Amino acid sequence: MKTNIYKKEIIKIFKRNHLLSIADVHKQIPHANYSTIYRNIRQLVKDDKLVKQIFGKHIILYEINDIKKHHGHFLCNICKKIEKLEMPKNEQIAKNGYRVQEYLLTGLCNKCKINN
Ligand SMILES: [Zn+2]
Ligand SMILES: [Zn+2]
Repeated sequence: MKTNIYKKEIIKIFKRNHLLSIADVHKQIPHANYSTIYRNIRQLVKDDKLVKQIFGKHIILYEINDIKKHHGHFLCNICKKIEKLEMPKNEQIAKNGYRVQEYLLTGLCNKCKINN
């Protein structure tokens, strides 16, 4: 399938980077059409290779679907920097009977904490 020729390349890019937008990926494969990149990423999400993450109202990013080691995110409200957070242990979550779909904390990063 012609539309899938960038899948391997895209996965490689995601292995080097934590969170990326479709535009970020396109910048690294400039010879491909934006819509082709978009279709490839959407397919990779369907295949459970990538996960779509929505931060706030407007930030849509993708990352590797790491089934073995789930992590949460910390979003800085000022500079919009996003960092990985360690998830609470599954046993702790199971004890409460929750099924966590997203683990997102927001606030101020170290830099913004000092400057604001
Ligand atoms: Zn910040
Ligand atoms: Zn992440």
